Amino acid sequence: MGDLRKCSKCGQPSGDYASVLFASVFAPKDSFMICGRCAADDHAAGLVSIEEADHFIEETTMNLEKLEELIKLCPETTPVPEELEPFAMTPLKVYRALQAYLAAFKSRRMELMTEMGSEQRLQYEIRKAVDAENYELAAELKKQLPGDAH
Ligand SMILES: [Zn+2]
Repeated sequence: MGDLRKCSKCGQPSGDYASVLFASVFAPKDSFMICGRCAADDHAAGLVSIEEADHFIEETTMNLEKLEELIKLCPETTPVPEELEPFAMTPLKVYRALQAYLAAFKSRRMELMTEMGSEQRLQYEIRKAVDAENYELAAELKKQLPGDAH
C-alpha cells in the first residue's frame, strides 16, 4: 500500500483538501489516494463541451453556497485527532476541494471556448439566448452567422 497521506499523482500531502481514496476489497494493497486538487483537474479535463462545463460550474457554485451556510451555522467543529487528520473529511476541507473544482471547471471552460471556432461560439451564444427566452438577442446573433443557409 502506498503512503495514503500523500497524493499518488502530485505527491503532495492531501492536507487541506478533501481527498479521494481508491480502495478495492479485492486488492487492498493497491489502494491509493488522490488529493482534491488532482481529482478536480482530472474531472475538469474530462469535460468535452461548454454546456457540460456550465452545468458543473453551476452545480459546484450551488454546493459551495450551501456549504458556506452550513459552516456559518456551526463554525466550531469537533477537533480531529492528529493521526486521522490526513483522512478526516471536515467541512472546511470539502469547501477547499469544491473551490479547487470550481477553479478547474472554469479554466477548462476557457480552454473549450478557445478551442471553439467563431461560428461554433456564435451557435452556442444563440442557444443560450434562446434558453433564456431572449429571442431578440438570438435573432441579432443569427444575423452574424456566415452564409444564408438558415
Ligand atoms: Zn494531488
